[in-house]
Amino acid sequence: MITVNSTNHSNEKVTPRKLGTFHGGVHPPFHKDDSNKPVINFAGIPKRLVLPLRQQLGSDAEPCVSVGDSVYKGQLIAHLNHHEGALSANIHAPTSGIIAAITKHALPHPSGLQAQCIIIEPDGKDESSSEHSFKPITDYATFSQNDLLERIQQAGIVGLGGAAFPTAVKLAGSKNAKIKTLIINGAECEPYITCDDRLMREKSAEIILGIKIVLRLINAEECLIGIEDNKPEAIEAMRLASANEFDIEVVSIPTIYPSGGEKQLIKILTRKEVPSGGLPSELGLLSQNVATAYSIYQAVMEGQPLISRIITVTGNGILHPQNFEVLIGTSFAHLAEQAGGTNKMADHLIMGGPMMGFALEDDNIPIIKATNCALFTSSTALRESNPAFSSQAIMPCIRCGKCMDVCPANLLPQQLYWHIRAKDLEKAKEHNLKDCIDCGCCNYVCPSHIPLVDYYRFAKVELREQKIAQEKADISRQRHEFLLYRKERDKRERDEKRAAHKAQLQAKKAAIAKKKADTGENADSDKSDISNSDTTKADAIKAAVARAKEKKIARETQADESLGKKSPRIKPTKNTGTNDEI
Ligand code: SF4
Ligand code: SF4
Repeated sequence: MITVNSTNHSNEKVTPRKLGTFHGGVHPPFHKDDSNKPVINFAGIPKRLVLPLRQQLGSDAEPCVSVGDSVYKGQLIAHLNHHEGALSANIHAPTSGIIAAITKHALPHPSGLQAQCIIIEPDGKDESSSEHSFKPITDYATFSQNDLLERIQQAGIVGLGGAAFPTAVKLAGSKNAKIKTLIINGAECEPYITCDDRLMREKSAEIILGIKIVLRLINAEECLIGIEDNKPEAIEAMRLASANEFDIEVVSIPTIYPSGGEKQLIKILTRKEVPSGGLPSELGLLSQNVATAYSIYQAVMEGQPLISRIITVTGNGILHPQNFEVLIGTSFAHLAEQAGGTNKMADHLIMGGPMMGFALEDDNIPIIKATNCALFTSSTALRESNPAFSSQAIMPCIRCGKCMDVCPANLLPQQLYWHIRAKDLEKAKEHNLKDCIDCGCCNYVCPSHIPLVDYYRFAKVELREQKIAQEKADISRQRHEFLLYRKERDKRERDEKRAAHKAQLQAKKAAIAKKKADTGENADSDKSDISNSDTTKADAIKAAVARAKEKKIARETQADESLGKKSPRIKPTKNTGTNDEI
């Protein structure tokens, strides 16, 4: 247990808060000083913006613009997928320009896969229009929770800590969950990344306002902001900004990776353990990232949708590492240019940090809402930051147990690895693979250089696909079973009708026979009564048809005569010498 000083009134009171610890963790070289000195600069408007339709967990947004359309800054260009259960988020034009294409483009994804994107050619005017903008809500306290939630949804806000879960969905789910404590994640434990640090130093008042909006939305009693103690300036700035907020407390936490994992930060700040498969809301907790709180402030109080974010551009392969405010859809190449360009040490481009990030093959790929860092680095520096990037040969597992010692999720990484290698995903599931947070601590310490996280990511994707396939198969089976049931039911109903009709006829016959018997008439002659009645009906129909035919002929003849013409319907026939009607 660690005891540190935390305060919500930097000049007034100091409250000791007992902090918890989590199992494992590592201390990689953090390299925060490389980029945390310069103030945040705007990265400018690039020549082209590429906006993937899916930038968050869940489904693609649906384009509501066409190629050739002019768009204003902040205009909605793709709306969230409204299908039931779909996780989706609106997408807005980051600047004014023309929709140049809606087509497939490479995404920032480890697989390098392509997906549908809206491509904007900016006109350089950066023009907005009142028709396509949100009205700022400066007096948010007078607005209903639903109105605020709707604004957050309309603004396309997703979690900016990496998971990119649609924020409105998360907040809506927590509204009725009796949340007592809001946890704000300012830990930023991943090496090299300093965007949250700079944001807290420069926009602390705005972040506090964003937090107050969330507190109002979820009716929470208090807020704990966790910041690693290697960011003293950010801690001070946030304490000053929240000095008059009695329900907001800034907590300095020890620097250890991955203190910024959701469950790990909760454990540190509250000493509560979110159980395997459980959710923080079950413990009365909800967590949000500081950058998300800032974007909520922008959406509500400034009326600005999520069209830009702060990104760290760093590494020994870049000339001037720093943080930028970047329009969503800007390419990594543009960012490198803005940071003075790359040098010859830039062997790798990593999206994210060296622990949880992944390598990109091409810098012509856009940044998305979930991008927090562009790391241009040499192979040597990358290897020092995370030996998993080592080019050394992968050796067999020597069962040293180091991976187990550092796993913050209390898993058995080597067991998971063996089961996945043996393609026994069920066993991996039994060993709580879903609790793995992909932190890479096991990779970091493995002396055999086994890329353990790659195995876990692969297995998680496989299991997800198996689950989707299983759900589809279940739906098909249910449909087939219903079809069989319907066929059987229809047949049964038809049979029942037939039987009822037959019984009716038999009852009628029996009644007639009884009547005849009672009156002493010949039963045989009576037998034919029912069939006779059918014959009579047929005769009556024939007679009616014949009458109608005669009437028709009569009408036509009368009409011809009244026109003074000889009826063309009458003509002589050779053989009989009589007139036949055609
Ligand atoms: S650290 Fe590597 S070698 Fe050691 S037990 Fe884990 S997987 Fe095996
Ligand atoms: S990547 Fe997963 S298994 Fe490895 S240390 Fe992190 S949580 Fe544990």
